[in-house]
Amino acid sequence: MKIEVDGSRLISEIESLASISDAEAPAVTRIVFTSTDLKARAWLRARCEETGLSVRQDAIGNTFARWYGSNPAAPAVATGSHIDAIPNAGKYDGVVGVLGSLEAIRALQRSGFHPTHSIELLVFTSEEPTRFGIGCLGSRMLSGALSPEAARQLKDSEGTSLEKVREGAGLRGELETLKLPLSYYKAFVELHIEQGPLLERQRIPLGVVTSIAAPASMRIAIEGAGGHAGGVLMADRRDALCAAAELILAIENAARSGGAIDTVATVGICEVFPGAVNSIPSRVCLSVDIRDTDLKRRDGVMQQTESAARAIAVKRQVSIHTELVNADAPADCAPEVIEALSESCRKHNLPFLRMVSRAYHDSLFMSRIAPTAMLFIPCRNGYSHRPDEYASPEDIGRGTLVLAETLTALSR
Ligand SMILES: [Zn+2]
Repeated sequence: MKIEVDGSRLISEIESLASISDAEAPAVTRIVFTSTDLKARAWLRARCEETGLSVRQDAIGNTFARWYGSNPAAPAVATGSHIDAIPNAGKYDGVVGVLGSLEAIRALQRSGFHPTHSIELLVFTSEEPTRFGIGCLGSRMLSGALSPEAARQLKDSEGTSLEKVREGAGLRGELETLKLPLSYYKAFVELHIEQGPLLERQRIPLGVVTSIAAPASMRIAIEGAGGHAGGVLMADRRDALCAAAELILAIENAARSGGAIDTVATVGICEVFPGAVNSIPSRVCLSVDIRDTDLKRRDGVMQQTESAARAIAVKRQVSIHTELVNADAPADCAPEVIEALSESCRKHNLPFLRMVSRAYHDSLFMSRIAPTAMLFIPCRNGYSHRPDEYASPEDIGRGTLVLAETLTALSR
């Protein structure tokens, strides 16, 4: 059996999907359940159907495209990723995993391979948090990490509820039906661009992910006192932005002081009120993102953030309110899926690096209900979530080949 990936067809499909976008090329914007997203879903469904896959959608729009194995009652082997894209993103994040999986299935069909376990392409709804403020919406619900009650509370920035939005997209089933039983999948594999520079820097074509870092995010509101930038003397000030500045550096220090390479913390949003050159900032809102492969260490940084906030509030006579947005556990990938990926790389004489995923993916949640691992390919300069995101056809082809080989091993 010889597996041959049709690289040029795959690349032209990646280009076709990129053209279904709300941003001008080369940028891609595809927010969940917009008319553009629905158009992309319809395009993808047609590709799956012409491949002979049976397609179904669940109540939140997760798409399952199944190639039935000779034992259809046995748990399926799943592979896939997402096709939604943040504003002004690139064309490879998520898409390589979806269209690469589809081409892997076609390559296996052409090779004459017949799986025992069904192979299922899984396309997750809203991996990106753009619309509802929470990432991995589809996989969270499949794994039970987000309850139907909590999902019913979600609203987009226009105040439209997730319930209304999904109804508008023609999805009417009960959210209670989403959670998959533990026996549903035998394994899950996600092919993805690295979104970091390590593979490219070390000139290694593939990465086998052994663990996925635990993300957490917090919102912090700092309330001080405003006033005239000329009139209020320095001794009398309760400047919210100066307090925020101290807190931001304390968060950086908390992440650095542990000395672990996998601990990272970022304050990515700082909103200043009223935001005038001659007005003392009265209120500041920060968004903080903290990640680590080690849950204890990650929680340690969060606790240090809280205690720094308390100390700074007292010292600067401001009030600081911290709110937890989400704190997810890290995932260890499954040894048997890691081994299947590694063995497939060896079989094709392709060097690979065992690595940690610092970005989180749907795999983080899939790992709670199925043995899971990820396969990374390099992306230029490690760039992602920007229009110049790029992965070479050679790297995409190699990733797809190893994925196809891995699917044969897992579905036999
Ligand atoms: Zn992604």
